[in-house]
Amino acid sequence: PSAVRTAQKNVQTSNLGSSSTQAHYERSEDQRPSPTTHRAEQQPLQPLRQAPKKPLTEQKSHAGVTKQRKPTKPSMSNAEIMAKLNTVALNLDPSPYFNMIEKAGQGASGSVYLAQRIMLPPKLTEEELDNNQERSQAGDKVAIKQMILSKQPRKELIVNEILVMKDSRHKNIVNFLEAYLKTEDDLWVVMEFMEGGSLTDIIENSPSNGSMNSPLTEPQIAYIVRETCHGLRFLHDKNIIHRDIKSDNVLLDTRARVKITDFGFCAKLTDKRSKRATMVGTPYWMAPEVVKQREYDEKVDVWSLGIMGIEMLEGEPPYLNEDPLKALYLIATNGTPKLKHPETLSLEIKRFLSVCLCVDVRYRASTEELLHHTFFNMACGPEDLTPLLSWKK
Ligand code: ATP
Repeated sequence: PSAVRTAQKNVQTSNLGSSSTQAHYERSEDQRPSPTTHRAEQQPLQPLRQAPKKPLTEQKSHAGVTKQRKPTKPSMSNAEIMAKLNTVALNLDPSPYFNMIEKAGQGASGSVYLAQRIMLPPKLTEEELDNNQERSQAGDKVAIKQMILSKQPRKELIVNEILVMKDSRHKNIVNFLEAYLKTEDDLWVVMEFMEGGSLTDIIENSPSNGSMNSPLTEPQIAYIVRETCHGLRFLHDKNIIHRDIKSDNVLLDTRARVKITDFGFCAKLTDKRSKRATMVGTPYWMAPEVVKQREYDEKVDVWSLGIMGIEMLEGEPPYLNEDPLKALYLIATNGTPKLKHPETLSLEIKRFLSVCLCVDVRYRASTEELLHHTFFNMACGPEDLTPLLSWKK
């Protein structure tokens, strides 16, 4: 019963802004591990329980949900995008350097493959070579995301993702290894391979622990949230907001290392621009200030981390049965979501969730503060995550 996603719900910027309040969903049968997966024709679907949860790209006005809006203008021209890509990607055919083993996953922008490195590519700078030898050598497994650039509606998100990943070396961030422009149109991004898959896979594929609709115990949740929080603090210290924290974007390896991925929607705060206001993220995980188009900062990730905590406790985020527009409305009006079975939970986890899911941003904890929270005292060791990592076998 591995990673069977019965349907995929895809909220698209332009559709969210359509004259109808009905969002448009995209059906996409999961055909892992076939490398020939194609995206099925678009058609409206009823929201489904395990419907994930595609991020919204930048949307300037949430009032736009009832108005016709054009997709936002790309922030970079094609020439600028290629120029940026050329600074981070090698102009080489990577095929001789990797044995492709199998398809590991399918994203909106491309397919991810498990591969084995045959050798390091030539043309690496001394610094890159040092880094690479430390991180990945001949024989190592790697993940390769292959993307056809001409098929990407938002190429700047891909550039953004590579730049953030390349510049964010941390034990709780998926390591970027190198990128190749095989041709002008064919981009391969090589990353460390996370054999355990995503936290969503774990939540959806492990047997429930009995009391709740979740396979995870509170000590396991504390461990995963703490590790994610370390990765987030690292990003926040660099003034980067992730803006799409959810279980799909947290990957695990067989040693129970927990790493954040998917940096396409990251935003860098600067002295000149210390807040953001665009609606970016995946509806069910969005903080109220994002939904309401207020100015926001890195604390939106703390809200999403709290929602991810609820996913681990209850199997899914609040309002997942609602369509995304209704969910946005409920987030904006209900404030802190209610837990389904608070009586079964420890005081520590409830207190932890309440400081993450605090509507008033002034009272919402920072990642630095969260790392001192007593909830993390109950975190298990990595060895206690092993049973959760066997879902693929
Ligand atoms: P996109 O970023 O294209 O919008 P996405 O966020 O849905 O798409 P991808 O990042 O492309 O997803 O990943 C697709 C799937 O591939 C993931 O769900 C995950 O299972 C797998 N995957 C991604 N990166 C890795 C990795 N480094 N190691 C192992 N598996 C990975």
